[in-house]
Amino acid sequence: MYDVIIIGAGPSGLTCALYCHRAGKKVLIIEKGMVGGQVALTTNIENFPSIKKIDGVNLAIQMYEQVQSLGIEFKFEEVFSCSLKEKIKTVVTNVSSYESKTVYICTGASSRQLNAEGEKKFISKGVSYCATCDGALYKNKDVAIVGGGNTALEDCLYLSNIVNKVYLIHRRDVFRGDDILVKRIHECAKKGKVECIMSSEVVKINGDDKVKEIEVKNKIENKIKKIPVSALFVAVGRKPDTEIFEDLNLSNSGYILTDNKMKTNIEGVFAGGDVRDTILRQIITACADGAIASVSINEYLSK
Ligand SMILES: Cc1cc2nc3c(=O)[nH]c(=O)nc-3n(C[C@H](O)[C@H](O)[C@H](O)COP(=O)(O)OP(=O)(O)OC[C@H]3O[C@@H](n4cnc5c(N)ncnc54)[C@H](O)[C@@H]3O)c2cc1C
Repeated sequence: MYDVIIIGAGPSGLTCALYCHRAGKKVLIIEKGMVGGQVALTTNIENFPSIKKIDGVNLAIQMYEQVQSLGIEFKFEEVFSCSLKEKIKTVVTNVSSYESKTVYICTGASSRQLNAEGEKKFISKGVSYCATCDGALYKNKDVAIVGGGNTALEDCLYLSNIVNKVYLIHRRDVFRGDDILVKRIHECAKKGKVECIMSSEVVKINGDDKVKEIEVKNKIENKIKKIPVSALFVAVGRKPDTEIFEDLNLSNSGYILTDNKMKTNIEGVFAGGDVRDTILRQIITACADGAIASVSINEYLSK
């Protein structure tokens, strides 16, 4: 019987484990893939306070080694289902099942992919799913961004302050984002910082060891245009990893709803990091959620 089972060993889960262990709790972390979660997919991190620059794998290893050195238990298994409503929670994996008084869900979220040719090959070599994270790497270069919702428009405006020019590619003939953002995009377009390419899709990404060019197909004219760019940002939505959790209150986009203490609608079940309905999804916010969750977990256990 554990005090807390943490599902996901990304920054949020590792931080929660660290804090719960320091509070004397018996912790189990279950991870289906790599420790560090999305951090391990990142080439350069330059916005984590106190570390000027670090590659994602190294930061993930450092976070993992700190937690592992405390003797916290890890299981490298995939959680398939959970029974959360009872006082004693049961977490079922592909290997076994485990019981705990509380559960912290921090399974993260994954970016939706375009499924364009070359996309997988160039991930972290010019293809990015996070403009806030990677935009600064392309100062004064030409880049492209795909999407037409608020995230794509906000990312486009953010990038236009850093790079030379942004090609904003959208598959429809109008943007789905807020009017105010669309207006700002058109203002940037007038200054030549942004070029909107509507009714079009990126079909292929070319390069050698890095992205050099994209092939964009106009769906109306059925013509392909080649555009030289140093990076392609994909902002076509994110998918929270919540399918296995029943009975939790979710937002319209499928993120777990919590209060500001990371409590979900189920007693003894907490959630944080990228899987949570929140305004910013970064390493620092994921860590902060994990730390706050540990306080709520301790409060709950001491009742
Ligand atoms: C390419 C890229 C670059 C980024 N760059 C930056 C950056 O420069 N700076 C920054 O602050 N942020 C950056 N981010 C965002 C940052 O990585 C995330 O905000 C952060 O990792 C979220 O942490 P998390 O712990 O909530 O979730 P995640 O990191 O997503 O970790 C969740 C973990 O849960 C595991 N899991 C999921 N389902 C199950 C299951 N059923 N059973 C067991 N385990 C499961 C996953 O395998 C994963 O390891 C970047 C993200 C990406 C994709």
